[in-house]
Amino acid sequence: MKTLPASSKTVIIGGGIMGCSTAYHLAKMGVESVLLERKKLTSGTTFHAAGLVGQLRSNANITRLLGYSVDLYKSWKPKPAFPPAGK
Ligand SMILES: Cc1cc2nc3c(=O)[nH]c(=O)nc-3n(C[C@H](O)[C@H](O)[C@H](O)COP(=O)(O)OP(=O)(O)OC[C@H]3O[C@@H](n4cnc5c(N)ncnc54)[C@H](O)[C@@H]3O)c2cc1C
Repeated sequence: MKTLPASSKTVIIGGGIMGCSTAYHLAKMGVESVLLERKKLTSGTTFHAAGLVGQLRSNANITRLLGYSVDLYKSWKPKPAFPPAGK
């Protein structure tokens, strides 16, 4: 986008996994948002992540969130070049 909208109900600062995920889920809910990234999308810490999605944490809500993430990633196409470990 070359020009920014004059206003938006929701403005997300930062296009890492947190900002992109927030924008994605808001869009799924039908909520308009503008995502502002100072450099390139996912160029921050997200670029360095190893891609591991832990599935057990000491907090039940975070554990549920991670399970949701695994299901979400599985539902996306195209499928990853490598099968999940153990398959
Ligand atoms: C080496 C390494 C390996 C990792 N491996 C894993 C892993 O396997 N699994 C895992 O779950 N986690 C892993 N992590 C942790 C994971 O990468 C981070 O928790 C996650 O990427 C953080 O995402 P974020 O969106 O909060 O931050 P970031 O990815 O850092 O995104 C923040 C974004 O905000 C932008 N920004 C900052 N200030 C502004 C501003 N003023 N205006 C506009 N934009 C701004 C930045 O440019 C950046 O793009 C790893 C981390 C490292 C360093």
